[in-house]
Parts: sequence; C-alpha cells; structure tokens
Amino acid sequence: MTYKILNECIACGACQPECPTEAITEGEIYVIEPEKCIDCGACAAVCPVDAPVPA
Ligand code: SF4
Ligand code: SF4
Repeated sequence: MTYKILNECIACGACQPECPTEAITEGEIYVIEPEKCIDCGACAAVCPVDAPVPA
C-alpha cells in the first residue's frame, strides 16, 4: 500500500519536506510517486485538508 493525494490538495507544500523518501512532487496538486512511498503517513499528519490518503 502507498499513499496518494486527492484533488482536495491546495498545493500548500506542507507535506513535501515531511516525506522521508522525497516521494512527493510539487505541482498544481502535489503528487506521490508510489514506488518511493513507504506508507509512513507523515504527509497525511501535516496536511490541512486531509488530501493524502492510503491508496
Ligand atoms: Fe512520503 Fe510517508 Fe507520505 Fe509516503 S506516506 S508520501 S513516504 S510522507
Ligand atoms: Fe496538498 Fe496537503 Fe500536501 Fe498541502 S499538505 S501540498 S494540501 S497534500
């Protein structure tokens, strides 16, 4: 299992520095590269709109 970022993302950038494997890419909405995600949940913990969810 990995996390994915839903369309609710407001591109605030809070999650990106929290990711231990640099799996999150900046964009109009932020995107998680599934092959890098280790399912730690750090991105979800800091997201103001709960956009990262287990996928
Ligand atoms: Fe990075 Fe962890 Fe979020 Fe996966 S769950 S994208 S490893 S912070
Ligand atoms: Fe998007 Fe949430 Fe990450 Fe902010 S913390 S960029 S709203 S997924």
